[in-house]
Amino acid sequence: MKASVSPVLENVIYRPTKRRSSEKIVPILGVPCDAVSAFVDFIYSSRCTEEEMEKYNVHLLALAHVYSVPQLKQRCVESLRQRLTIDNVVDVLQLSRLCNSPELSLRCMKFVHRQFKAVEQTEGWRFLQHHDPWLELDILQFIDLSESRKKRTKRQREEQKLYLQLSEAMDCLEHICTEGCTSVGPHDADPTEARKEPCGKFATCQGLQTLIRHFAACGKRVSGGCHGCRSVWQLLRLHSAVCDQPDSCKVPLCRQLKLRSQQEKRKDGARWRLLARKVASARAMSSLSQAKLRRRRPEEVLEMFSRSSRARGGARSFKLGK
Ligand SMILES: [Zn+2]
Ligand SMILES: [Zn+2]
Ligand SMILES: [Zn+2]
Repeated sequence: MKASVSPVLENVIYRPTKRRSSEKIVPILGVPCDAVSAFVDFIYSSRCTEEEMEKYNVHLLALAHVYSVPQLKQRCVESLRQRLTIDNVVDVLQLSRLCNSPELSLRCMKFVHRQFKAVEQTEGWRFLQHHDPWLELDILQFIDLSESRKKRTKRQREEQKLYLQLSEAMDCLEHICTEGCTSVGPHDADPTEARKEPCGKFATCQGLQTLIRHFAACGKRVSGGCHGCRSVWQLLRLHSAVCDQPDSCKVPLCRQLKLRSQQEKRKDGARWRLLARKVASARAMSSLSQAKLRRRRPEEVLEMFSRSSRARGGARSFKLGK
């Protein structure tokens, strides 16, 4: 007999006995005869038909576990994984724990999480509540953890989106202050020379130009300003926190705001620096993923990074076109 497939079986069979017989009977209880015969077939041939597997996967898993037959165990796990249903998932979960298969357990947990409303109505779940409250608790904790993880990921994704929008707005601010766009140009250029074609980020750029035109005209801006003015102030502050060439930068107030922020040892300055760091990392991550997408060369990626905070020379003001 090819008992070496199963070390446990090998032990049972070759254990010395008082009887001098080559015949040895190993009792296997609580499992249908056909399942046992499929198990024995597997021990001899390392094979098992799909039909047998589908019919006896539960019993074969128990046997494979008890008699340590890892190849068979793996096949049973695979078979059960593919055949999880609302009605059998609780039973399979209990079995997976008895048979020490974390992979199958996890799969069942995820299944229960997805279909919890339906699983809760099953006979298996009611049985579990009465007989295995610890497992019930485990499942509820698993669902709770997964839910809060999902919420956290969603929040992070939304934050990331916001930082990217801010980052794009800052790109547009620099571009408006150095090259000029359709209706706002840098202070030292003739507005008629400002570009008349919409730029690549025109949706954001146009909104920002409207804000800047408002900022230049709004009477309230000195005392904190209105909502629109505050947005422009915030962008200017954020730009100055990120800008690494304030002396030659054309964005209005860049150097003054940077000096002010360095003097501020208060919480406020730290808050801006933190926001600036978050925006910079969102920008770096999106540059990286875009670089990956377009298969850029490393030099190009580096160039993109340095471009993101590069500043160009000149005085600080806007010039509005008509
Ligand atoms: Zn533009
Ligand atoms: Zn205003
Ligand atoms: Zn600057």
